[in-house]
Amino acid sequence: MRLSVLSSGSSGNAAYVECGEGGLLVDAGLSRRRLEKLLARVGRTLHDVDAVLLTHDHSDHTCGAPALSRDFGVPVFAASEVRTGSKLGPMTVAPVGPGEPFEVGGMTVTFFDVPHDSTTCGVRISGDGRDLAVATDLGEVGPETLGWLRGAEAVVLEANHDPEWLARGPYSAHLKRRISSPNGHLSNRQSAQAALALAPHGLKDLVLAHLSKTNNSPARACGTVHGALREGGYGGVRVRAAIANHPTPWIEVGAPIEIPEYTYRYARGDGAGRLFGFE
Ligand SMILES: [Zn+2]
Ligand SMILES: [Zn+2]
Repeated sequence: MRLSVLSSGSSGNAAYVECGEGGLLVDAGLSRRRLEKLLARVGRTLHDVDAVLLTHDHSDHTCGAPALSRDFGVPVFAASEVRTGSKLGPMTVAPVGPGEPFEVGGMTVTFFDVPHDSTTCGVRISGDGRDLAVATDLGEVGPETLGWLRGAEAVVLEANHDPEWLARGPYSAHLKRRISSPNGHLSNRQSAQAALALAPHGLKDLVLAHLSKTNNSPARACGTVHGALREGGYGGVRVRAAIANHPTPWIEVGAPIEIPEYTYRYARGDGAGRLFGFE
């Protein structure tokens, strides 16, 4: 099983997961054309997508789904309460209950509830005897959420903002409160705490996602999270940041940790989406 986060952030979210011949999109919050272009960057097309899984009804996660459903007949799955949120537009959405595993694209998928300002789910996906999990819009990582993320060898987790940058930044007091509330978005610090809790349970790849352009940077997010992991004795966990409109390289779920001290940073201004490793 492998994945690439195609695009991440408030301008649009989608991750592509494949196992054998099967392919799934977790969220489709970009236009059909953008999705096509991003998939092409990892050598795939919309015909490779067997299903779309929607985490919640915010348009940065859903706006491309109606076109995929209508033009390609791609089935769309979402937890029942997400579906009845009704902001999803005209398309058929198969309702599934959080905590109820189902099979699609040769993989087993389970939605689980996370706290956010709309009914929102994370997703756990199993295939090839491996597990990955995606949780990108959530205000806190409580024991239940940790339970769903634990044991996944690859995790896509929100690291939305640096708390100090948010506090000093240009957002209104109201918006700042909303973002940092338990129903808002995870800070780098919260993400680091979750990473430390997951590291002893086989975590190998961590993709930090939904980074704010205003209140965070890939270097800041990776630095905070990888720094905490290193201090905790888990410096071998590969940490990357997913950004808008540049797919991450393929991440092979469960690839062994070979280099004890290794992390990735996005090389700004040095070619689109180029990543480099450093010690
Ligand atoms: Zn979002
Ligand atoms: Zn959201």
